[in-house]
Amino acid sequence: MGKLKVLLASSEVVPFAKTGGLADVAGALPLVLEALGVDVRVIMPRYGSIKAVGESAAIGKNVKVYFAASDEYFSRPELYGDKFGDYKDNLDRFTFFSKAIFNILKKDNFKPDVIHCNDWQTALVPVYLNTLYKYDPFFSKTKTVFTIHNLAYQGLFPKEEFPKIGLDWSLFNMHLFEFYGKVNLMKAGIVYADMINTVSPTYAEEIQTKEFGCGLEGVIAERRDRLVGILNGIDYKIWNPAFDNKIFKKYSINNFADKYTDKARLQEEAGLKVNSRIPLIGVISRLADQKGFDLVADIIDKVLAMDLQFILLGTGEHKYHVLFEKIQKTYSKNAAIYLKFDAILAQKIYAGSDMFLMPSRYEPCGLGQLISFKYGTVPIVRQTGGLKDSVDEFDPSTGEGSGFTFTSYESGRLLAAIKKAVSAYGNKNAWEALTKKIMGYDYSWKRSAEDYVDLYERAREQS
Ligand code: ADP
Repeated sequence: MGKLKVLLASSEVVPFAKTGGLADVAGALPLVLEALGVDVRVIMPRYGSIKAVGESAAIGKNVKVYFAASDEYFSRPELYGDKFGDYKDNLDRFTFFSKAIFNILKKDNFKPDVIHCNDWQTALVPVYLNTLYKYDPFFSKTKTVFTIHNLAYQGLFPKEEFPKIGLDWSLFNMHLFEFYGKVNLMKAGIVYADMINTVSPTYAEEIQTKEFGCGLEGVIAERRDRLVGILNGIDYKIWNPAFDNKIFKKYSINNFADKYTDKARLQEEAGLKVNSRIPLIGVISRLADQKGFDLVADIIDKVLAMDLQFILLGTGEHKYHVLFEKIQKTYSKNAAIYLKFDAILAQKIYAGSDMFLMPSRYEPCGLGQLISFKYGTVPIVRQTGGLKDSVDEFDPSTGEGSGFTFTSYESGRLLAAIKKAVSAYGNKNAWEALTKKIMGYDYSWKRSAEDYVDLYERAREQS
């Protein structure tokens, strides 16, 4: 077999367009695949915000990015919707994108061994390959991999819109597109893909259960022989306190004391008492139920009654904005709340905090805990999905483990985990040993990219 050829299809790619973790994956993974010798290219819609000239651009030095262009569908500022809600023509838009992928490949005469599709926006690609393009010799050797980044977003549309997809009504049945009377793109993608993965091994198991399956657990379980979990990596060119120009003072394992300069300056900027002895808990997150904020809401008064400081950066659901505005007023001494998206402040919080809180209800992978490791900031997490795969309970008697955890989704358990963390913080030497250890962890993309190469090879072997 010759060099592996892969097209990664994504509705968002860093640095061109981003609303979530998918964009980070689509922007970082191809660069590492290329270094591993894969002939990889990327395709995404050309949104109104994309300034690059021409039909393509590059990420890294020479990974080609194709843009699927349509004034009608993509010359708008946002990706999926605006303040009035999702765009009404999203099915037209991503049907257009999925079909454009085949046309662009032909036009450029690039015959990938694997098209790597991501989430519902490109879920039609495996379907089209096995229907519209089933007998097209150009794609006779092409297989598909479908990655589920978050099963909660499935691409659901009213039944009446099914004809827009351009396939026979006979495919609108409960084994393929139909989902409780609606059209479900993700479901069809899962059924038709040659290989499927999610972004952590534990989430791959969880989504086969009723609790996490969002109604698709049966469909997924049926395909479990084709399903694997691959933890995302992070880009250490961006996330590394030794090189981070946005933080107050750079530091590494060798000059770890400088982290306390970052802490002091963060405390100062946030209007908190400057004192290295007081444990500082950071949160950087979408404010959504997924992230466990109902648990936080339950116990926040008890937490802030302790001798600690709390700094939160996030935006999201209105009820949590209301909650945290109230917290800011009530606990102005030891809480600092920023209800906004701010990438630079995020870096300062990762650097300046002692602990990072992430009590998610479910978490496909989670990047916050991996970033925290690198900044020597100890995660406090719920054992679910990618959090379970990356954070182990710290045992003060042996020094083993990497953070503070709880399992059952109960606020009392979360409070207990926070108390354990605060208590461990009191032992300066043990704490410093823990922080230095987690800073040495390697969650770079290299390992995960090798797993993706294996996954592509498995897809290629399917008949
Ligand atoms: P998800 O993709 O589900 O939101 P992840 O943990 O996978 O959660 O990734 C979230 C990323 O977005 C992290 O890099 C986090 O630092 C960043 N982030 C979240 N909220 C904010 C915010 N308000 N300001 C800056 N960065 C944020």
